[in-house]
Amino acid sequence: MPPRFARRLSGALVIALLAAASVRALGGTLDAVVVTLVGAVAAGLAAMGIRGPAPAASGPAGPDVGQILDEVLDGIAEPVLLVRGKRVTCANAAARALLGRHIVGEDVRVAIRHPAAADRLAGEAPLPGRPVELVGLGAPDQRWEMRIGETSDGARIVHLVDQSGRHAAEKMRVDFVANASHELRTPLASILGFVETLTDGAGDDPALRARFLKVMFDEAQRMQRLIEDLISLSRIEGEKYRLPAERVDIGELLEDVYAELAAGGGDRVADVTIGFEDDLPAVVGDEVQLSQLIHNLVGNAMKYGRPGSPVTATVGRDGSGMVRFTVTDEGEGIPAQHIPRLTERFYRVDAGRSRSVGGTGLGLAIVKHIVERHRGRLDIASKVGVGTTVSVALPPAEPDRPTVTAEATVIKG
Ligand code: ADP
Repeated sequence: MPPRFARRLSGALVIALLAAASVRALGGTLDAVVVTLVGAVAAGLAAMGIRGPAPAASGPAGPDVGQILDEVLDGIAEPVLLVRGKRVTCANAAARALLGRHIVGEDVRVAIRHPAAADRLAGEAPLPGRPVELVGLGAPDQRWEMRIGETSDGARIVHLVDQSGRHAAEKMRVDFVANASHELRTPLASILGFVETLTDGAGDDPALRARFLKVMFDEAQRMQRLIEDLISLSRIEGEKYRLPAERVDIGELLEDVYAELAAGGGDRVADVTIGFEDDLPAVVGDEVQLSQLIHNLVGNAMKYGRPGSPVTATVGRDGSGMVRFTVTDEGEGIPAQHIPRLTERFYRVDAGRSRSVGGTGLGLAIVKHIVERHRGRLDIASKVGVGTTVSVALPPAEPDRPTVTAEATVIKG
């Protein structure tokens, strides 16, 4: 590469990077940075002549600047097109993957087949300005935002920003608020109905009054469980990016949870067996959250397992050195199509059954968030008619130094 041209090329790249960094520093979004970067590189290259300087007659061949521009564009994960007049003159790999491999040379309104895009791209002149939303481009549930920038020589830079994830997250938030309100309204309506009936005279009959008060108490407890789970969920989500700092012995924690369950009584406690391996390493975790995780998973195995059938909860080290907590029940199992959705908030296989056993529909969503915060892994395996195994793998605190020593494998039940 001739040294003068190499200096100019690196100068153009440095200016492009500085421009992009300034946009970012001034509070610009990542998208604005990308557009600035592409625009600045394109402008720099255009100023030099898009194919670079003519190679010196006797010297080595010069760089193919067009190829460098292609490589820069291909390095951008989102679709970017360069449009001159109405023709697409350049499209990066992401644009070709979304719109088809043959878009270069096509009329841009044919390349981006979308009515909203066609309206904006109809004119020849550069048309920066407000982004245009393109719903259903590429796939029915995909949403893109089309932004248009311009180069110094009047070409248009069309940048498509994928908004599908943001839109899905917004929909989830709206659904969550609607579901939570519905879940709270049902027991509240029941309580208000019974209060009204009691005030209307049913309260005079002691047997009836006791029965109604019992229903009201159960419904109020249902609301309380739901509110507690909602608070837990929002707390855990709020701490998502704060790594836990305590050293937690999961075997000991399992023993504590088992003792709490045993103290609380209930028909199913006698069916639960716990066990943990010797010399288990501690995990770096949040003790309160991990205790809640164990409660939720053992609780589900007790709730959804057949009465009298065994529930086994164990802690051991798996093949990859992770500390694995596993709960197995011999319940009716879960049909395969439901398994991927079980950790969604309020998703239940059988809503009536869940409510009748005191479920809120949030237990596994809470578990999922706790596992994510602990950089762990959640696995659910189930066979209809046989039972369910849920396991959580957590990274050990210090992989090669056991920190917890148990005398022997403890089995209780
Ligand atoms: P819930 O409060 O309803 O138990 P979860 O989020 O804990 O909510 O679980 C979601 C759904 O997954 C439950 O409603 C139930 O249908 C199913 N489920 C969870 N654990 C088990 C299990 N061990 N056996 C069978 N079904 C289960």
